[in-house]
Amino acid sequence: MSEKQRRINTTGLTAIVKPTTQCNLNCKYCYVDGINNQNRMADDTLKNVIGKTIEYNEKLDRQTRFLWHGGEPLLMDIDFWQNVIDYQKQYDTKFKIKNGIQTNLTLLNEQTIDFFMQHDFAISTSLDGPREIHNKHRVFKNGDGTYDKVIENIRLLKSRDMQVGLVVVLTEDTAEYIEDIYNLMLDEGLSFSVNAVSPVPRAETNHTFIKPVTFAKAMNKLVDLWLDENDRDRAEKSRINIAELTVEKLILGIARRCSNSRHCSKSFIGVNPAGDIFPCGTMNDKADFKYGNINEKPLNEILNCEMRYSLMRRAENIRDDECVSCEWNNVCNSGCMSHAYAKHKDAYRKDPFCAAYKIINSHVKSRLEKIFEKAQSNSDKDNCYVILNKRVNFDKIENPAIKRLLTREKIYSRLLPKYENGSPAMIIRPERTSNFYPDYGDFYDDWPEYMEYMEYDDYYMVYEDCMVLT
Ligand code: SF4
Ligand code: SF4
Repeated sequence: MSEKQRRINTTGLTAIVKPTTQCNLNCKYCYVDGINNQNRMADDTLKNVIGKTIEYNEKLDRQTRFLWHGGEPLLMDIDFWQNVIDYQKQYDTKFKIKNGIQTNLTLLNEQTIDFFMQHDFAISTSLDGPREIHNKHRVFKNGDGTYDKVIENIRLLKSRDMQVGLVVVLTEDTAEYIEDIYNLMLDEGLSFSVNAVSPVPRAETNHTFIKPVTFAKAMNKLVDLWLDENDRDRAEKSRINIAELTVEKLILGIARRCSNSRHCSKSFIGVNPAGDIFPCGTMNDKADFKYGNINEKPLNEILNCEMRYSLMRRAENIRDDECVSCEWNNVCNSGCMSHAYAKHKDAYRKDPFCAAYKIINSHVKSRLEKIFEKAQSNSDKDNCYVILNKRVNFDKIENPAIKRLLTREKIYSRLLPKYENGSPAMIIRPERTSNFYPDYGDFYDDWPEYMEYMEYDDYYMVYEDCMVLT
């Protein structure tokens, strides 16, 4: 490896573990089957999930991440969480094991906060917007809205200096309030992603399904609000992941949202309370996609199956010809297979939000082009990077949101080189790299091919961070 090439990404397979599918809420768009089941993960299964996932990643020289999901994972008592940590400590790992929890936050208490602080859990939750918007769909079993409890606990976590990541689920009847949602998040200093509601039968039954065009309009509005925000003080406190990741994806051709990655099934597994393994938490309990059971075999044997290899090639084998010739193919990769399966009962069809992705990508690209046009340079001596095929003087970029993003995420460092020896640098062109780019969690085996490509282009790249699970 030349000095110009560094590998920083070390994250391996992430296990999305559902210790229970039971939930204390009754959200109208929930995609989880069995929220009223009393099922809980048995202790032996927990031991196997933790041990076998760690062993799998250690063999690949990769870091292990567990994302504790549900149902509502905080229905598991503190002894369960203590076991999680105790079992993880039994392994002498090269990398620190990471834990994240996706919780509805209604069951949080001081004891669990102390525990998650002590053991460095990343906490994420759902907040769909201000009270009237959030309470439309995120309700307790008796129908009462959960907003007051959730915002109280978000503030409590913040007062204890704990970061909490938020997911906003957008539905047909909440999309028009995107500006109110944006203002709430910025006023509270919260970072958030926005997801379209999953096209599952429950969402359709409850009339919460969102049309792609509605979703796209709301996303474009959100991007504009972010790019045109005048109050820089409040903007500095929040990260608007959907906007930032779309920009990053268009500039670099790197997809950090799982739904745009080429091979999400390389990077994730879903585990249900019985220890059955699936390609993703959103596909748990879809019998057609069961790889095996963690209590029966080592994880590498379970994952060494034809179905998984086939899903890894989904982007190559997509049934919609439209994707093959699509100008956004390299940054979309046909979207989420779980969405496709929910809509078409076929994971090899394109994501049903295709029309939205096209509209959003076009809008963001055209706004970026205008921003970078104003900062174009002809001089070799300027602080230039090649961005969207333009030679851009970094110092002349006026838009604060873009400048901040490029700086904070060190995106410019991945756009190197500047103009060296007076000749234009190689540009990282997504269409050339998409087959070679290492997805988050790619196997080691893929690296020689990738490194070869890097040698050839001789660009300097820092690949770091991790993908954001949508
Ligand atoms: S893209 Fe879809 S199926 Fe893949 S990890 Fe993300 S949510 Fe799961
Ligand atoms: S935008 Fe649509 S057609 Fe293009 S790659 Fe994505 S899913 Fe396929």
